Amino acid sequence: MTTIVQQLHHTRERIALACARAGRAAADVQLLAVSKTFGADRIAEAVAAGQHMFGENYVAEGVAKIERFQSQNLALEWHMIGPLQSNKTRAVAQHFHWVHSVDRLKIAQRLSSQRPSGMANLQVCLEVNASGESSKSGVAPESIKNLARAVSQLPHLHLRGLMCIPEPCDDPDRQRLPFALLRELLEDLQRDGLAVDTLSMGMSDDLEAAILEGATIVRVGRGIFGSRHYPGHHTP
Ligand SMILES: *Cc1c(COP(=O)(O)O)cnc(C)c1O
Repeated sequence: MTTIVQQLHHTRERIALACARAGRAAADVQLLAVSKTFGADRIAEAVAAGQHMFGENYVAEGVAKIERFQSQNLALEWHMIGPLQSNKTRAVAQHFHWVHSVDRLKIAQRLSSQRPSGMANLQVCLEVNASGESSKSGVAPESIKNLARAVSQLPHLHLRGLMCIPEPCDDPDRQRLPFALLRELLEDLQRDGLAVDTLSMGMSDDLEAAILEGATIVRVGRGIFGSRHYPGHHTP
């Protein structure tokens, strides 16, 4: 039987190998364990195996897990990576450390104004539509510069970089194209004077391609926790 400990270990090895191939230090790529649909017991297994960054897609499910682990002083870091509606921004601003899926100014403004004053600034990435019209989510690449400039001005957010969820693709060379685009967009922002440093890209099936193009956070769910079963997943 494959355990979460073994799969975490295997995922870390894949990251280290890809970093070696890319001539990068393994420490430059952080592993975000995507725990959506998995309960607190599985998360606790991952924590015991040394994992501390977790990603969630659904606000209510994520908040319940965050509250559940809060009293344990584990220094966990929670990342919101799913689509965000404006009526959910307050719960996100009050609980999460990061949001990867900001795709319009209104959401960013709400997150900033709703961030409690006693908390560190919310770390944010802008979600880019990096695979053209086939993808439904994210900002068009040509609109990133303006959005990034506006978001970087908001007082309680810290703009960190860009995120993308490309269409699934089996060809390792073609997998790199949207990741390369994201890297070029980040370099544009840096040339513009923004202090951005994060490329959130690469999942279970394409993390190698993402690391070759400069990913600094890879988001891995199935590769760590196994396949997801959606019905009834909202009980953490
Ligand atoms: C579910 C999800 C992941 C993880 O996907 P896997 O294929 O399970 O690794 C990563 N990023 C986002 C935005 C997701 O929704």
